[in-house]
Amino acid sequence: MKKPSIVILGAGYGGLVTAVRLQKMIGVNEADITLVNKNDYHYESTWLHEASAGTLPADRTRYKISDVIDRSKIHFLHDTVTGINREAKTVALTKGGEIAYDYLVVGLGYEAETFGIKGLKEHAFTIANLNVARKIREHIEYQFATYNTEAHRRDDRLTIVVGGAGFTGIEFLGELVNRVPELCQEFDIPKEKVRIVCVEAAPTVLPGFDPELVEYAVNTLERKGVEFKIGTAIKEATEEGIIVAKDEEVEEIKAGTVVWAAGVRGNHLVEDSGFENMRGRVKVDPYLRAPGHEDVFIVGDCSLIINEEINRPYPPTAQIAMQQGEVCAKNLAVLVRGQGELQTFTPDLKGTVCSLGEDDAIGVVFGRKIWGSKASFMKKMVDNRALYMIGGAGLVMKKGKFNVL
Ligand code: FAD
Repeated sequence: MKKPSIVILGAGYGGLVTAVRLQKMIGVNEADITLVNKNDYHYESTWLHEASAGTLPADRTRYKISDVIDRSKIHFLHDTVTGINREAKTVALTKGGEIAYDYLVVGLGYEAETFGIKGLKEHAFTIANLNVARKIREHIEYQFATYNTEAHRRDDRLTIVVGGAGFTGIEFLGELVNRVPELCQEFDIPKEKVRIVCVEAAPTVLPGFDPELVEYAVNTLERKGVEFKIGTAIKEATEEGIIVAKDEEVEEIKAGTVVWAAGVRGNHLVEDSGFENMRGRVKVDPYLRAPGHEDVFIVGDCSLIINEEINRPYPPTAQIAMQQGEVCAKNLAVLVRGQGELQTFTPDLKGTVCSLGEDDAIGVVFGRKIWGSKASFMKKMVDNRALYMIGGAGLVMKKGKFNVL
């Protein structure tokens, strides 16, 4: 009898956890498993703010997929997905034509959501992947390196605007305020020439976070030079910077670097392939399957799970993506064997920690508020745990964060 074919799209947190769990559960003779990813490495999306600011070398955030998969059980395709044909049950690839599946796992991750704001796609960076993170770092360094070479020095070269004071925006600001003094020293630039501006449309920084911790974060970042413009919306991004508005007041902020960190959506391929979706995210059934498609599982940021207590979607996180990967692998094993019961998925949230640079953070863990070095230590433990879940102790030793004292 023909072995069922399982195809996993994306080696992010959701896809890769599915793959490494499945390889432990399923024998070589039970299924053909293929993992497709556009890079031959996995990058830690949750560390990209560090690579973008240049506080962590880009290479530290990634590892080879071949180092964590069992190649006798998983066939890895280094290729880019261009479409999913749900009727024919095939996936189109850039290099490799088409591959057929009996069961599909979609873990293609997030993309930036710019909400139609004029000029953002053209003139702002988004911390979308490792390649963009490297580009942001290079771009900021280029602005600093150019400043003293011009006859008419342009101070706006040294202005960095961050759009959004949510989790990603705040973590990026935390790294920037530590990186800027290094850049000033390296390129002989007086620190007071540099401006870091955070623009947030909502009435508060880190909406939904504990107010006392938010105050701690704002005070810390302001002390290190961040200007917050809260309740202020970005109306347009231009070649010169951004145009913002608060109430009736419109202001232009000239800036050499604009980073948009205020919105994510699911991968456009989910939308293009005709799945019922909201901004590229599929509201999955309790077993993580796309409605009407018992053979298609969706994990990570391409999925949408409703928090029944507040009747709103859970924010997409690596924590949820990895937990989904575990359940998805178990459910695939049940389907392949035709025995056992499918497991339902409910997020088991342990807490949230938001870093404010390498040595500071805020968070709520197991219901307790933490901040400062304790929270920073916890953040590193969370980062190391993600490595451990995929590549075990060996990967933690190779890529883990240990500078905790
Ligand atoms: P991703 O991790 O985005 O992986 C998707 C994979 O699919 C990638 O390997 C990509 O290369 C691949 N891919 C995409 N398109 C294609 C294609 N067409 N063909 C082939 N392969 C493709 N979450 C937390 O829980 N805690 C945090 O502290 C946290 N901090 C964050 C900080 C930053 C700066 C950012 C940007 C996000 C943070 N998040 C955090 C959110 C978290 O990173 C995401 O929720 C998580 O990465 C989603 O995982 P995923 O498996 O859906 O996809």
